[in-house]
Amino acid sequence: MKALTYHAAWDVELRDVPDLHAVADDDVVVDIRYCGICGTDLGIVSGSYPVAVSGVTLGHEASGIVAEVGPAVTEVAVGDRVVINPTPYCGRCRMCRTQRINHCVNKHGTESGVSYDGAFAGRYRTTSAFVHRLPDHVSLKAAALTEPLSCVLAGVRKIQPPSLAAYTYVFGAGPLGLLYAWALSLRGLTPVVVEHSPARLAFAQDRLPEGVRAYASLDAARTDFFGDPKAPLDVVVDTTSVLLEPLFPELACGGTYMSIGLKRQLASIDTMLLADRSLSVIGSIDSLHGSFVEAFHLVTSGRIPTGRLVSHVVPLADYPKGFAALGCDLDARSFGPTDESSCKVLLAPGDLDE
Ligand SMILES: [Zn+2]
Ligand SMILES: [Zn+2]
Repeated sequence: MKALTYHAAWDVELRDVPDLHAVADDDVVVDIRYCGICGTDLGIVSGSYPVAVSGVTLGHEASGIVAEVGPAVTEVAVGDRVVINPTPYCGRCRMCRTQRINHCVNKHGTESGVSYDGAFAGRYRTTSAFVHRLPDHVSLKAAALTEPLSCVLAGVRKIQPPSLAAYTYVFGAGPLGLLYAWALSLRGLTPVVVEHSPARLAFAQDRLPEGVRAYASLDAARTDFFGDPKAPLDVVVDTTSVLLEPLFPELACGGTYMSIGLKRQLASIDTMLLADRSLSVIGSIDSLHGSFVEAFHLVTSGRIPTGRLVSHVVPLADYPKGFAALGCDLDARSFGPTDESSCKVLLAPGDLDE
């Protein structure tokens, strides 16, 4: 089978590796149909998030068809359509026992597609607890966004808005920004989305929950949405990594700034204001206990139309095109803003039939 293998920053290749099979009693092997390119993958490939192990198969946002199961597996069978939870945890270490499964010390580093083989490949091997069978009406494309949604729901759990009327801003209209807009909206808030790229802004416009709007600038959002050019920042979700320093002085008393980008960016903030204004500066990564099940529920119930956030589906063999759609040019070794109207880009190792 083919697998997209990471060697070092800007050094990835699609190579032939042996097919995977069920070996242990509880193994489930999945023929991958779709696997989303995540900001994590872009950071790994471009060198800005240097966490991946050399030789590993990248990719962690995947769905597919069960190809083989071990003799002890009863929850799924060969032929079932499934989504994969790529974030295992042991349930026994101190982090797991204290509600922090996303930082489990026994999960071999970070997660599949980072520190052990992931799903930009023909097949992926996991165990039965980490696959979820899809109802017939849910497309494999929509299901591939379950994992990023799970990460978003984990982040939303950490936000304690002072009121449902809190002025709430999401910076960046990529997949995570749009999923945050949906998840915050289900929580009862009414976020505005700020996105500088005209192409991304246009893509986002009719993919937002009811009542939510997207704007090209913070000024436009404040003036047009809140009717106040100085509308305070009660809750900020920053998917860009770069806004803490400029926006910190504008946080409202009792306000929350959440950073979820994975780009290294040093920021200096005034700790007197942090205390005096009762501010919260928080970060979030990965899933928390039960957030994958919540995400699965919101995808399968149709409460969040994740399939509509897919902008591109690219055969795995054409992976450079998929990365280029997100501004990551593997030949030129450059990563930056793109004019493409891209949101979630899926790589497809097999048929593009569903
Ligand atoms: Zn991801
Ligand atoms: Zn653990």
